[in-house]
Amino acid sequence: MGAYPSIERMGGIPMQELRAQVLSCIHDFSGNDDRIIGELNKIIEETGNEACHVIFKVLTHLNLDHDEAQETWKQLLSHRDKMMASLGRNVCLSTSLCDYFCTTEKFIKAPVLLEIHVFEEHLNSLKYDSLTGLHTRSSFDEALAREMARAKRHKTDLSVIFFDIDDFKEINDRYGHLAGDDVLRQAAWTINDAIRTEDIAARYGGEEIVLILPETGKAKALILAERIRCRLENVELDHEGQQIKLTISGGLATFPQDADEVTNLLQEADIALYRAKSAGKNNIVLYSENKRRYLRIDFSSTINIQKIGFKDTKQIFEANSKDLSLAGILIESDHLVELGTKVGLEIPIEAVDTTLNVIGTVVRVEALGPDMFDLGISFIEMDKSTRNEISQYISYELEKMKMNNGVPIYA
Ligand code: GH3
Ligand code: MG
Ligand code: MG
Repeated sequence: MGAYPSIERMGGIPMQELRAQVLSCIHDFSGNDDRIIGELNKIIEETGNEACHVIFKVLTHLNLDHDEAQETWKQLLSHRDKMMASLGRNVCLSTSLCDYFCTTEKFIKAPVLLEIHVFEEHLNSLKYDSLTGLHTRSSFDEALAREMARAKRHKTDLSVIFFDIDDFKEINDRYGHLAGDDVLRQAAWTINDAIRTEDIAARYGGEEIVLILPETGKAKALILAERIRCRLENVELDHEGQQIKLTISGGLATFPQDADEVTNLLQEADIALYRAKSAGKNNIVLYSENKRRYLRIDFSSTINIQKIGFKDTKQIFEANSKDLSLAGILIESDHLVELGTKVGLEIPIEAVDTTLNVIGTVVRVEALGPDMFDLGISFIEMDKSTRNEISQYISYELEKMKMNNGVPIYA
């Protein structure tokens, strides 16, 4: 997917990159503190006082603001020079740092001394889940709060998708927990593979995976969620030579349409997930306060319609469709059908050369003229593969529409 510039930036350089530069400088020149200081000064020259903030964050975990960090860096180096002059020997950076923050500027009361790589490993273990390599719940919470603040500041969309593996207990029962772990890991990788670098995938709980999609509206998020759902449905995961299949369900909520606070957004994605499970699993549901909402696309085709419960074959007629969603279809017909009538529909999907058979109820009738009516038909019965066909077809049309800068409509 395309690259979107939404990473936390400091002075033009992403903060993570600056942090990596500082860490590698400390690592590469360890044992030669004068060289470390020289290299850190070069980084400061190149990137400005933001670098001082990052240096103190890495070395002490203190969160100094940029100007304060720059001043403190100068004070610290002068403190080190004074210590060396009075002791008459070299003083390493960490000793002067400890002395400065514990005695001169009392920012730190009880310091801990440990190797920086040990500390970094510890930080990583808090940030990344050991089984899947995805972000942990706490790292996710932090990221969501940050992205929500950014979305509000820049008035951009922010979507959250909650995924939960379907019938995972059965997979554990049938193949064992180790196999369960293995396919969970592979499912997590498949999901992580489908997202952009600035999106965040986290393991929220057992077999629940949640995505944060910055600068992403509902339609784009739905396309991504559908793509992930289809990819997982069609792949065979491998555990020691055994091919294991699984499906996932997903719930999607978007800021600012659905919620303007982090907790509400999460709750709503979770409610949508619950609805996806109730609706038969292996599907994605968009959050909506009152009812499920589905993306609707223009769809012009000749549909065969049969009123159910009428033996008379004349009750079969043809009509042209106008639009289609996972919930139903709108048809323009010269045949008046009573509200509440059950109908069987044959819907040709030319793009994939298939005809779908669906049962629905007429829920809306509107006269367009003396002999022409709009019939709104809500689907009531459809098997999983039909549902998938419609869902994939809608995703495909939405992709095309996206390329033409079209705006999808909700039904
Ligand atoms: P549903 O379709 O309703 O989600 O059904 P489900 O069977 O997936 O039910 P539920 O989400 O309630 O249960 C999740 C199960 O996933 C329970 C637990 O045994 C299993 N699980 C959670 N975390 C792990 C894990 O790390 N490894 C393995 N092997 N199993 C896990
Ligand atoms: Mg589950
Ligand atoms: Mg679950």
